Amino acid sequence: MMYQPTEILIERGEEKTPVVQRALAKLAHVPVRIVEKDWERAGVQAESKDAFGAGKRQLFFTRQRSRFLEHCPAGTPGLVCCNYLVVSLISNCPMDCSYCFLQEYLANNPVLKVFTNVDDMLAEIAKVVDRQPWRQFRIGTGELSDSLALDHLLGFCSDLVPFFASRNNVLLELKTKSDCIDNLLSLDSQGRVVVSWTLTPAVIADAEEHGTASFTDRLRAAQRVQNAGYKVGFHFDPLIEYPEWETGYQQTLEQVFTTIDPRRVAWVSLGSLRLTPTLRKIMRQRFPRTRLLSGEQVLCADGKWRTFQALRVKMYRTLTAWLNELAPQVPVYMCMETAPVWQKVFGRSPMCDKDVARSLTAPNLGQQIAAP
Ligand code: SF4
Repeated sequence: MMYQPTEILIERGEEKTPVVQRALAKLAHVPVRIVEKDWERAGVQAESKDAFGAGKRQLFFTRQRSRFLEHCPAGTPGLVCCNYLVVSLISNCPMDCSYCFLQEYLANNPVLKVFTNVDDMLAEIAKVVDRQPWRQFRIGTGELSDSLALDHLLGFCSDLVPFFASRNNVLLELKTKSDCIDNLLSLDSQGRVVVSWTLTPAVIADAEEHGTASFTDRLRAAQRVQNAGYKVGFHFDPLIEYPEWETGYQQTLEQVFTTIDPRRVAWVSLGSLRLTPTLRKIMRQRFPRTRLLSGEQVLCADGKWRTFQALRVKMYRTLTAWLNELAPQVPVYMCMETAPVWQKVFGRSPMCDKDVARSLTAPNLGQQIAAP
């Protein structure tokens, strides 16, 4: 389903920026308002019983005045970290998964915000990565939004891909549940861009990942992107425990690796469903029919509810065993898990976060996974 904002808001002075011009050309029928930069702080939000859902449909173009580059918040003490950096050009997401943490994180600020100063973001990244040419970086744009779902309107890929293609010490990850990949197909990433899909069995995607592309459409998009020379990645995160999870995930993995060439898959990650108490409350209100709150979950040391450890270790081990059969050369890692869980699943835990990062950014990764 294509995203349709109810209103476009543009910070005064940003009307002529390339991203605003591209979006206005595609959304000529949507009403436009010019607003002051602190418009949001005045608390002017759509009035609705579902303020978060309504906020997503207000599209606000503004300048980012803070820094763009951050460490991934998954680097929480006590959890194994993969040394991932994130940048956000968009805040909030046009899609609406029942388990999305943004419902809590952006509860007071749900307008779908697009930052107009992409040049400032690229300059900030260049300053960090060009000064450390010996170090390998991974940077993703999929933390506060989906990386590609709005690209048909915003066209950010045409700024990002050439920038990363010209640097050999940094990989860009574009993470998505959409099939908006057309802008990527004519760009040459030089092996420096990984386009990754978050996947769940189709039955879960249909029930819980509202407004996303279907499993079949995501897979078809991954195949087209891989055929165009990109590396691809897959995230089984969150892993959802439901009565038929074994059959569901086995079929899902088999479909992936009969469609996708495993030799050109950069990585696969696994992660448990993790929900704060506040997010569980929001999910009950916004998605009363969700089945994700009825599983066997326990409160963990970081304050999040997860599938209880014995069951999630079983899920990780089961998927890892299938991955070893279907795609033995693909690096597999876990997101937001403790060292003891790594030990139980992989028989070892990383000595430090650099260990995980190193296995995902090997300098020859681009050659290993070169286009056919
Ligand atoms: S696609 Fe990702 S960011 Fe968008 S609603 Fe779903 S979980 Fe949230």
